[in-house]
Amino acid sequence: MRRGPKPWHETLPNRLVPATQESSRLASGPRPPRCGVPDPPEMLSARNRQKRFVLSGGRWDKTDLTYRILRFPWQLVREQVRQTVAEALQVWSTVTPLTFTEVHEGRADIMIDFTRYWHGDNLPFDGPGGILAHAFFPKTHREGDVHFDYDETWTVGDNQGTDLLQVAAHEFGHVLGLQHTTAAKALMSPFYTFRYPLSLSPDDQRGIQHLYGRPRAAPAPSAPALGPRAGVDTNEIAPLEPATPPDACETSFDAVSTIRGELFFFQGPFVWRLRGGRLQPGYPALASRHWQGLPSPVDAVFEDARGHIWFFQGAQYWVYDGERQVLGPGPLLTLGLAGSRVHAALVWGPEKNKVYFFRGEYYWRFQPSSSRVDSPVPRRATDWRGVPAEIDAAFQDADGYAYFLRGRLYWKFDPVKVKTLEGFPRLVGPDFFGCVEPANTFH
Ligand SMILES: [Zn+2]
Ligand SMILES: [Zn+2]
Repeated sequence: MRRGPKPWHETLPNRLVPATQESSRLASGPRPPRCGVPDPPEMLSARNRQKRFVLSGGRWDKTDLTYRILRFPWQLVREQVRQTVAEALQVWSTVTPLTFTEVHEGRADIMIDFTRYWHGDNLPFDGPGGILAHAFFPKTHREGDVHFDYDETWTVGDNQGTDLLQVAAHEFGHVLGLQHTTAAKALMSPFYTFRYPLSLSPDDQRGIQHLYGRPRAAPAPSAPALGPRAGVDTNEIAPLEPATPPDACETSFDAVSTIRGELFFFQGPFVWRLRGGRLQPGYPALASRHWQGLPSPVDAVFEDARGHIWFFQGAQYWVYDGERQVLGPGPLLTLGLAGSRVHAALVWGPEKNKVYFFRGEYYWRFQPSSSRVDSPVPRRATDWRGVPAEIDAAFQDADGYAYFLRGRLYWKFDPVKVKTLEGFPRLVGPDFFGCVEPANTFH
């Protein structure tokens, strides 16, 4: 029997895995059925954390989403699958302004598929049992993809097999931006349990409403017509409320850069500023306080050798000289970059004259002097030995080391040996923000 890879947390260095019942249970005997989405690092140290929903760091910028079912499981009739998927989405739409509309062709926001073993995303399924499904978070390069393991015995509403409703509702939570949680009886728990009727736990509901807000009040039937513009912007999404910055110990970051010798961490509309390893008073603060007109969240940021600060979001970029905007928004295409977005930008080398853009498994070299990438054909990010694919942020420190962030972890890269240092990844929170976290204290 072909077996899939071990869950991500089993492949981490041992010191990151606390001796919990979970790891010993996973080490022997059949693996309990579970979701294939890797658990966020915070779950590894859940014992001293508040138990609550965890965000992936992304969300959809609109509330009216489409979905499409590409292939179906053989055990169920198609209409039953359609109905179940609609029901699973409804769990989330009833407590938010989100709407979901099925489409039957073309690209949809959410693409649902039943597939087996290796299926093109480095997260192969494992035959019956074990991993049941997985989904990709918003603002990642496969956002909207939901995959179910075709080899499960899919059922609806009974515990004779794996309940599609339960698993689908869980995966849709991921697709909307929720991570796994340790909260009791939560739909977003990584382990499958048959529980009927399907309902959100208070934790699930708080999580999804944190991202998208509460449902819109239905318009009163007698409301007077407000003219032609009434209702045109119902697909717009309100700013996240409340506008309080996330805990630097709990969050992942969108972008990090050394700017004027200080370190800036970006998350959503917020920025953390570190000078000499210390968080500066008044931070986190709104990034727009420094850079007026800056969009949020930013995907990547770097400071070039002339001291110009480049920000990236989606298919656009902005350039600031200090706090003054000198360019933007400009299309990424004019830099020679096709496609949608850059995940990270790294200034590299003692002269700070090399700039690299990272996206998924690829990177490009960029010449700030000519404002073009060397070649539109990307190189494989595996050239950066030891650095994982899908990084969120990268920066260079004053000593010439590069840092690569993914989720709450980071890798330190040696410019002389040209590979990551031993002992990484480590957690960002304890090392940069002084967070108390047992995982990094085993040295
Ligand atoms: Zn999951
Ligand atoms: Zn997949």
